[in-house]
Amino acid sequence: MIITRFAPSPTGYLHIGGLRTALYSWLWARKNSGKFLLRIEDTDLSRNSDEALEAILKAFNWVGLDHDGEVLYQSKRFDIYKSYIQKLLDEGKAYKCYMSKDELDDLRASQEAKGERPRYDGRYRDFSGTPPEGVNPVIRIKAQQDGFIEFEDGIKGKIKIAASEVDDFIIARSDGTPTYNFVVAIDDYEMGLTDVIRGDDHLYNTPKQIVVYEALGFKLPKFYHVAMINNEKGKKLSKRDGAADAMDYKRNGYLPEALINFLVRLGWSHGDQEIFSIEELIELFDPSNIGKSASSYNLDKLLWLNAHYIKNSSNDKLLALLKDFGIDSDNSDIMLDIIDITKDRAKTLVDLANEINFIVKAPTSYDEKALKKAFKGDAVEILDDFVANLELDKPTNKEAYHKSMESIIESKEIGFGKLGQPLRVALLGAMRGPGMDSVMDILGVDEIKSRVESIKSFLKR
Ligand code: GLU
Repeated sequence: MIITRFAPSPTGYLHIGGLRTALYSWLWARKNSGKFLLRIEDTDLSRNSDEALEAILKAFNWVGLDHDGEVLYQSKRFDIYKSYIQKLLDEGKAYKCYMSKDELDDLRASQEAKGERPRYDGRYRDFSGTPPEGVNPVIRIKAQQDGFIEFEDGIKGKIKIAASEVDDFIIARSDGTPTYNFVVAIDDYEMGLTDVIRGDDHLYNTPKQIVVYEALGFKLPKFYHVAMINNEKGKKLSKRDGAADAMDYKRNGYLPEALINFLVRLGWSHGDQEIFSIEELIELFDPSNIGKSASSYNLDKLLWLNAHYIKNSSNDKLLALLKDFGIDSDNSDIMLDIIDITKDRAKTLVDLANEINFIVKAPTSYDEKALKKAFKGDAVEILDDFVANLELDKPTNKEAYHKSMESIIESKEIGFGKLGQPLRVALLGAMRGPGMDSVMDILGVDEIKSRVESIKSFLKR
């Protein structure tokens, strides 16, 4: 069985880079009818894990990623880590190191002076003397000293690191608390992980984790290190680029389907297909097809996908989602009709709400450029005649409104714009919005008349 996990450090919200690796792990588990587990890396006790967990679960819930089993908290597992540390001490695979901070600083300084990379020199590795007084020891693991630490990365291929690059690193601090790479290795083993998919910012942690695996005789999982997401300038995407919080996308009017589709394609591909349903992804996803190089965040692409998913959502679904964007659904029949004529043009739910409001609410101001352009010559007279005709024709559908427009245009021998432009500005306040016939069909003759009267009195002022 394939078992994957997501192991966020609680930083308060779910970063989209994290959401992407979570998505890859989730897809791989779901594809194989395996398990997707969630672990909170909260050994840094100064952070509030409750809030962080809530933020992460909220974001997972929004995008539809479900996890299996109980959430595991590292902060509740110190006893387990302690027992493994004791086991390594008992087996002589780890040892107490009494080096003081001053000694460590001296060692560093002399290594740096020689142009060497700072590393622990193993001075307490085989120590059997009397420990110095007043020093609380740290515990270091005996790392392999010669040869190479190797593993086959599912994305990057063979990774081979000289053992000399990894020193006898600390697995427990002098206060007894275990260190990062140690607990990750223990948990990944204890949770039964078969596949670890994570950002390649962790690539250099993996050899250390392998040291722990080997000391305890654990079987290695398969590792996949995913290249980072770059911003549009080619630098690693960071919180400074804004919109790093997955929930910002919700607030900014994106559909979760669009975000998922966008994120999965940042790094993974299937031919040149761009649009994937979740079901398709579960069928097609394979972490071996994740690209080796960093992918670039491209907002236009996300907007394009979002527009696609908005356009293809049912009007009912959009109406429900629009509640968060100030659109009330009391008059839901009309709202559904308005959504039907506006959703093809909206890139986000924020856009869509604006488009809807332009139709629902009579303009309170007019775009100046549009006014100038539309109200030249006898525009007011044309509008008046058109409204007078509407009162006689009483159109009851889009086609009938269209005919009314045509008949004015023909009888006055004018171009379509001569009527269309002033009408658009009068009804919607600017040169925007869907076809006039659809808009008029929603507004009805009385409202059209009233909006035309309003712009006329505005023009008189
Ligand atoms: N807690 C780490 C992070 O948030 C992930 C650790 C891992 O995936 O091994 O970056």
